[in-house]
Amino acid sequence: MFRETVHHAGGATQGIASEAHALLILRRGARRGCHIEASTDGGVLVSWTRREPRGALAHRSISLVPQMPVGTLTDAVLRDLAAVAGLRPARYGRDSIGRRVILAGLAEIGATRTAALRARQLVTDDRAGAVRLTLTARLGMLAAAHRTTTTEPHGWDRAGALSAGLNRPGGRAGMLRSSASAATCSCGQLHAWGGDRDEARRLGRDHRRDMARAFVEALPVDFTTAVTA
Ligand SMILES: [Zn+2]
Repeated sequence: MFRETVHHAGGATQGIASEAHALLILRRGARRGCHIEASTDGGVLVSWTRREPRGALAHRSISLVPQMPVGTLTDAVLRDLAAVAGLRPARYGRDSIGRRVILAGLAEIGATRTAALRARQLVTDDRAGAVRLTLTARLGMLAAAHRTTTTEPHGWDRAGALSAGLNRPGGRAGMLRSSASAATCSCGQLHAWGGDRDEARRLGRDHRRDMARAFVEALPVDFTTAVTA
């Protein structure tokens, strides 16, 4: 479940959104080319602008904040989540002393880790007994996979000092790039230069938007079917 805040012409309206409703908002947003941005707590912001009758641009958004934030997704937790999201359906089973574990293909997620995934509402199960990730888990994974950073522009002085003091051949290039800032993403797919840091931040934002749209379009059918069932 999510806390939903809709910013519209008349102000803001708050409510509660089910997982199915949140998925609907995401898919509609992706279809209409909205800006979609996942947050590390497992929430998402869908925003867009529309032209008012008098010509002014109006900003609109829907923010979805999970009632249970996903918390820190360590590498170990991410591995477990990836196993649950794998091609083979995951189910609950019992370990040798009868504790509940998740069986995902050939992998078994131990009882303590299974209990933690359940307590954090990163996984849920349907009536048929299939264990799946929650939408908040998937959004948290998306945000964790795409952490963008921008570099501080070198500036004239620093580039000058480097070339004078250290006689580095890159000094001149540094001066040419005085205001330039590099945008990179933890996924390794973004290496771009902005003319200044604002532009670099925009490049990072555009990348996260593109990845979020691709994420929505690539959601597995069995997942979307289970959410909307
Ligand atoms: Zn990325």
